Amino acid sequence: MDTYICHVCGFSELEEPPWGLNGESSSFNICDCCGFTFGYEDCQLNAYEKNKHNWITSGAKWFDEELQPEGWSLDNQLKNIEKIPQHLLPKYLRIS
Ligand SMILES: [Zn+2]
Repeated sequence: MDTYICHVCGFSELEEPPWGLNGESSSFNICDCCGFTFGYEDCQLNAYEKNKHNWITSGAKWFDEELQPEGWSLDNQLKNIEKIPQHLLPKYLRIS
C-alpha cells in the first residue's frame, strides 16, 4: 500500500494523501504523529510552517504515542517534507 507524507511533521505513513491525489480534496485525516487535521487547520498559507514550529517547540510529541517507533528521529522525519511531490500539495500552495 502506498503511504503519504505529512506536510507538517514529515511522518511518512499516512494512509491517504492529505489533499487527495490531485491536491483538491482534503482527507480530513489526523496525522498520527503531530495531530494535524488536514483540510481543517491548513486553510492558511503558512499553516504548515506555523504548526510545524508550534509542534516542535512544544516538544514534538506524538499524537498517538503508541505508534512512535523506537529510536525515532525528529530530524530524519522532517527531511521527508522535502520529498513531497508538488502534485500532492494543496493547490493553493503549489509553485506553478
Ligand atoms: Zn504530521
